[in-house]
Amino acid sequence: MQSSDQTIFALSSGRAPSAIAILRVSGPQARMAVERLCGKLPSPRFARFTTLRDLDGSAIDESVTLWFPGPHSATGEDVAEFHVHGGRAVIAAMFDALGAIDGLRPAEPGEFTRRAFENGKLDLTEAEGLDDLIHADTDRQRRQALRHLKGLLGAKAETWRQQIIEASALIEAGIDFSDEGDVSEELIAPALKKIAALKSEIEETLYLSAQSERLREGLTVAIAGPPNAGKSTLLNRLARREAAIVSPHAGTTRDVIEVHLDLDGYPVTVIDTAGVRETHDPVEQEGVRRARDRARTSDLVLWLVDASDRGATLPENEDDHAPVWIVRNKVDLAGDGNANAARAQFDISASRGDGVSELMAALVSYAQDYFGSGEMALVSRARHRTLLRETVEALDRAGRSADKGDELLAEELRIAIHSLGRLTGRVDVEDILDVIFREFCIGK
Ligand code: GDP
Repeated sequence: MQSSDQTIFALSSGRAPSAIAILRVSGPQARMAVERLCGKLPSPRFARFTTLRDLDGSAIDESVTLWFPGPHSATGEDVAEFHVHGGRAVIAAMFDALGAIDGLRPAEPGEFTRRAFENGKLDLTEAEGLDDLIHADTDRQRRQALRHLKGLLGAKAETWRQQIIEASALIEAGIDFSDEGDVSEELIAPALKKIAALKSEIEETLYLSAQSERLREGLTVAIAGPPNAGKSTLLNRLARREAAIVSPHAGTTRDVIEVHLDLDGYPVTVIDTAGVRETHDPVEQEGVRRARDRARTSDLVLWLVDASDRGATLPENEDDHAPVWIVRNKVDLAGDGNANAARAQFDISASRGDGVSELMAALVSYAQDYFGSGEMALVSRARHRTLLRETVEALDRAGRSADKGDELLAEELRIAIHSLGRLTGRVDVEDILDVIFREFCIGK
């Protein structure tokens, strides 16, 4: 447990202007901040309607103010919340008034949650779940984040850790009795059985979660192909809004444009790459280079060709990038109807909309395969996966070192216990906290 002598404040609600803005204060001076601004402290956890005044006594705004004395608060410290009108000037005046109070300073990203973690209000996997929930764009991402926020992985990891601690105690006892032959065996054999069972259970959890990191990251689909094939037009149609500049002149899309789609709850980022063609214009060359990079690192490429363009370029080296779907566009124009038909998997008219719903349906079913069902997934981050792998490896070595000496076995179990402790943030995580909380929003 670590208590901070600094009091922090931040805007915890969204971007101004909005109907209401919520400013939060956490730390030892929170009580004084409320008294200075409201005159009087509200009863704990009851909303109180007051006029807030700055240090000169002039009114800032009316507020619904809440007071949560620690440790029964979100951060475990004294916390105050001011619900004021969400205008920019109101928020600026609140920042001035709070900043003028001795010992108060604006919060860093994630600092409220970090204090909650340090005061034992949530474990690290729950804090990560909270961040994922705030950043969830689709329903499936929301559900996955909620599982973490509820602490399902943390609770599992804690049971595993306890079980390994018990097995380890049996083994330590076995070591103490090791002169007495049979007693030692009696203690160690069940411990080894337990370790083998735990190892399979953790492996199973990893297996069931194989695709769930993908749900956090999303699926990236690049729309590529020669200039003027209709890439921007298709992107706009997929996004159902004017996301890219559509122009009849070749080479207008000079940079990479992304739109984020929610396809049946799956997060899909579609990127429109600049027309891939040889060019001497340095700005366009840069666009082409970025387009190629993006296409190469995307998970799926929609290669658009113009149905009326007989010499249309097809992707050069398919080993270079993700799976490619050849999409023949402008079928409304294709008089003879045959150009590029042989290799095309989809025939569409991006501007009229023909064939686009079939393409969308294919994308949804691709997304289903790509993300898997994920409902059972507990592991959603590389950090979790790495630590669970380390645990499995240590348990595996423990199982195999059984006949090589009990000290070795005990040491491997200590490694497994340590890895699981790092997962929930119980032990030795100082080094990763900055990295984890830096990703958070300010005010969270
Ligand atoms: P990009 O360079 O590949 O991004 O191509 P654009 O989306 O800018 O489209 C180039 C031109 O083709 C524009 O004038 C579009 O209106 C036109 N276009 C795009 N799709 C279709 C289509 O399905 N049918 C027809 N007739 N024109 C299209």
